Amino acid sequence: MAALDVQRITLAVIGTASSTMREKLGPLLGTHKRLGTMRSITDEDRMTYSNLLVEQSGPVCRIWLNREPVRNAQSQLLLDELDAALTRARDDADTRVVVLAAKGKHFSAGHDLKEAQEKRADFSVEERWAYEEKRYFNYCMNLWDFPKPTVAQVQGACVAAGFMVANMCDLIVASEDAFFSDPVTHTMGAAATEVLIHPWVMSLRAAKEFLFMGERVSARRAYELGIVNKVVAIGELPDAAMQVAQRIAQAPPFAMRILKKSLNRVADAQGMRQALSAHFDLHQLSHVSSEYLRTRDAGLAKAIQKGATHGA
Ligand code: ZN
Repeated sequence: MAALDVQRITLAVIGTASSTMREKLGPLLGTHKRLGTMRSITDEDRMTYSNLLVEQSGPVCRIWLNREPVRNAQSQLLLDELDAALTRARDDADTRVVVLAAKGKHFSAGHDLKEAQEKRADFSVEERWAYEEKRYFNYCMNLWDFPKPTVAQVQGACVAAGFMVANMCDLIVASEDAFFSDPVTHTMGAAATEVLIHPWVMSLRAAKEFLFMGERVSARRAYELGIVNKVVAIGELPDAAMQVAQRIAQAPPFAMRILKKSLNRVADAQGMRQALSAHFDLHQLSHVSSEYLRTRDAGLAKAIQKGATHGA
């Protein structure tokens, strides 16, 4: 093995190790400072992730979904990489805030239905439950429970699972062209997406309209509904999201961490976690309903043409 390869592997191992491990290993290998304080989009990040880009800007780690040709459709690989990148940002002592962004014109059109058609159309109940519990429900809750503040940076389509993931972040900054929708019940015959975050990020009445109608909601309307914190011009979005993140990062990190925990406990005290778990169970039931199976048998591609973006 070439010396360069050994160094790359070492860097990757350190990058995914806990802060304590890095403190022990870093000085020995002389790489701790570089990794810990000045990480930007490095070769190692490009190597580690094929569906993401990671950019470090001082205390802010910005993770970019990077499947522009398919409107950042969430494949299995993208979701696995995103969860791994978040774990890495969580364990990086120098990262105080995470921005979740996306390359291209659209934040995310939802789950990758082409991949779902090819790989998971014939899943048994047990297989689908395991797949969706891990990658859709648990990964989302990992983001909701992320110990540091998170900011979603949203442009273009933020649809179905795209909406679900963006709303796991603490704040959302959107550009004027952003639009939000969850058309899954209309187009797929499945009961919304796996994590029914909707009534927790807008009023219950607004959530009913959003889901029953299944139509696009503009960035301005999303702002009025309280889904979005800030709407900016398209060209200003990356800077605006970074400014919000950098402002948050100025606060003492431990105080910020327990403040977030307390705020999330408000939702827990209101029963959010139990409600989300109960919906996940019923969502699984909807996957074996005759209505859903008719859609699946007609081909998920048809649902894609109708504008659905939800993976089975
Ligand atoms: Zn599902």
